[in-house]
Amino acid sequence: MAILRIDGAHILTMANGNTDIHDGWTLEAVDGEITYVGPLEDLDPAGDPDESIDASGCLVMPGFVNAHTHTAMTLFRGSAGDMELQPWLEEKIWPIEARLTDDDVYWGSMLGFAEMLLAGVTCVNDMYYLPRVGTRAAMDCGIRMCPSGVILGIVPNAEDMLAEALQFTAEFAARDDLCIHPMLAPHAPYTCPRELLEQVVETAVEMHVPIHIHLAETEDNVRWSLDNYGARPVQAMERIGLFDARVCAAHCVHLDETDIEIIAERGVGVAHCPGSNLKLASGMAPSQSLVQRGAHVGLGTDGCGSNNNLDLLEEARLAALISKVREDDPTAVPAETALCMATLGGARAVFLDDCVGSLEVGKRCDCIVVDLDAPHLFPRHSLVSHLIYSAHASDVRDTIVDGRVVVRNRVLQTLDLDETVARAQESAERLFA
Ligand SMILES: [Zn+2]
Repeated sequence: MAILRIDGAHILTMANGNTDIHDGWTLEAVDGEITYVGPLEDLDPAGDPDESIDASGCLVMPGFVNAHTHTAMTLFRGSAGDMELQPWLEEKIWPIEARLTDDDVYWGSMLGFAEMLLAGVTCVNDMYYLPRVGTRAAMDCGIRMCPSGVILGIVPNAEDMLAEALQFTAEFAARDDLCIHPMLAPHAPYTCPRELLEQVVETAVEMHVPIHIHLAETEDNVRWSLDNYGARPVQAMERIGLFDARVCAAHCVHLDETDIEIIAERGVGVAHCPGSNLKLASGMAPSQSLVQRGAHVGLGTDGCGSNNNLDLLEEARLAALISKVREDDPTAVPAETALCMATLGGARAVFLDDCVGSLEVGKRCDCIVVDLDAPHLFPRHSLVSHLIYSAHASDVRDTIVDGRVVVRNRVLQTLDLDETVARAQESAERLFA
């Protein structure tokens, strides 16, 4: 039995989305499961802790959920910015991705996981090539991951790609690993023919795994869908039965009222990616309307080619800021809502809210300790406001995933950062040579 105790903290549990902060509370976890959150005097300890963290003066809160990314695309960071989406993909990204080796994906993933763990991201929803390799990296460094092999229907090796993704997902779904939660990832409606999408839905329902897909990201996507399905992307996907499976849809930028209603009613998870949408000039998602209608909205960084970092706190700030401009209303997406998107909302969007997203007895212990000593976090009017509008990812001191301390005092405990950076640099140099 492994007991973790965190004492003396301000604790933000996010239970039911509530953003109240409790001072001087204690958290206990046994074998990775939260067994107590509350005042120290009411704790009936499970035993002497094997690991204890003094979080006096710090804030303990749920780890961030990155609801949409392509982690190993760290290798593309800074390689081709300020371009249109389609030429960027077709000329810069896809030709190099065709040459990726296992080593490239492993070290690109490790670099991304290192960055995320140091920034307080404890769970990542990933869609990429060679999913076995990315998953091995996640298991080696101890981050929680929803892996999926990308499925494309318009490439010469489409059948092999589908077979590999299905086999990978079936294998990991059967393992019931506590930290690896596989999905199936048809890339997007415009890259996957209808029959392929229908096959993926059937398999996802059979395997009890969610689907991870790009949806309604650009105006072009909407035009393509109207031309090919005679309906906007969300309504087209509703017609072909996509939402009969649990679906986490990345972007959802271009939505009309009917689309928003479908997303809310069918329980579609939304991975809102404001940084990527801004950089690629894709548009501003109606996240305020989605939240008001009860949709499950989380936040994603998207890949490092179009962001260029994996800092979810930055996405939370952008989500709050971009909505104010979009709605012409400074009260749109307040700090509390943005904070919920980054934590419990993200867990709901990836269908893991019975497991993580808030600090509650019975859930797995994914949490972070935020150092509150920095000058930009004073004076103390509202910690929630500070987190969204003023905190930096580097204020995260400790990161705990499934009860295991993976970052302590800003030092990664589960991977060698110097080696990771050097190996990722080598891969990038070879790929871009
Ligand atoms: Zn993406």
